[in-house]
Amino acid sequence: MVEVSKTPEFSQENEVQHTKVLILGSGPAGLSAALYAARAELAPILLTGIDLGGQVALTYAIENYPGFPDGVGGAQLGELFQKQAERFGAQVLFDNANSVDLSNRPFKVTADNGTYTADALIIATGARPNHLEIPGEEEFTGRGVSYCATCDGAFFKDKKVNVIGGGDSALEEGLFLTRYASSVTIIHRRDALRAGAVLQKRAFDNPKVNFVWDSVVTDVIGDGKTEAVKVKNMKTNEVATLPTEGVFIFIGHTPNTQMFQDQLRMENGYIVVDNRMRTSVPGVFAAGEAADPHFRQVVTSAGMGAAAAMEATRFLQDEAK
Ligand code: NAP
Repeated sequence: MVEVSKTPEFSQENEVQHTKVLILGSGPAGLSAALYAARAELAPILLTGIDLGGQVALTYAIENYPGFPDGVGGAQLGELFQKQAERFGAQVLFDNANSVDLSNRPFKVTADNGTYTADALIIATGARPNHLEIPGEEEFTGRGVSYCATCDGAFFKDKKVNVIGGGDSALEEGLFLTRYASSVTIIHRRDALRAGAVLQKRAFDNPKVNFVWDSVVTDVIGDGKTEAVKVKNMKTNEVATLPTEGVFIFIGHTPNTQMFQDQLRMENGYIVVDNRMRTSVPGVFAAGEAADPHFRQVVTSAGMGAAAAMEATRFLQDEAK
């Protein structure tokens, strides 16, 4: 988890803090951008957002980030990113942006603790987990329904849990849950997984993991806490009730980009960037899952963050000429 040692230094209420480069988001994209902007001596300010460290901080182990042959904890990797950025003068502030005005420069960002203005802005606000939007899901969130195995897995020692989804997240988190749960049933709407081959093999080989194919969960049922899910087979229309105490949902993500709607060019909620991370507004750059519907890996997000900061540096240099 990203550790925030600093709170914003507004001496009076409503004071405006100006910076050359403002970065929104504390996941791999934001922190890599902070490292590169700091090394360019731009003294960037990074606002963490509410979800400190982004999604990676909630990931138990990352095995595909180069340089860590034995894997690295998601939270630990975030801490290392932050330490490295701070070493070169980045300021990581615990604050959450609520609205932006990109119509004029300096750009204006209104956050919980005050207002920031910036000559260049790097958006790295990431994405959040999708919900099934079925009866019982909201009611039982925190009482059996979860979107984070790393956070909640330990509550399910020797219990039967269900995992919904067929992508990398579902399998990775499902495998993590086998540390605690007596069995992990992965319910997938098709008969083929989307997840990569390595995770598929691990899941098929794990005796605690079993699959329910071609099926969707239609209801979470319980009394005060989750007791079962109703599952419908998409091919036969048969409905079954599966007793379970945990329902872990991993069905993809939605980018956190609402506040940029109408101000930046977007496609399906993702900020459109060119191959130099430039958005439709000169001086505004975007990186990571807020702008990437395709790769969404720690390494690609970090790369995008570095590229965005290099471009922001170039943008400010060109302007100063
Ligand atoms: P994802 O790849 O988009 O997979 C989402 C899964 O949920 C799919 O299997 C999808 O089914 C299913 N789904 C979507 N909507 C559903 C609904 N309404 N009801 C039931 N099922 C539904 O998302 P992800 O697994 O979170 O992964 C996101 C990105 O992060 C990917 O690029 C992935 O490679 C990456 N990632 C990588 C790793 C790793 O490399 N170790 C770990 C985690 C995530 P369909 O298959 O039928 O579409």
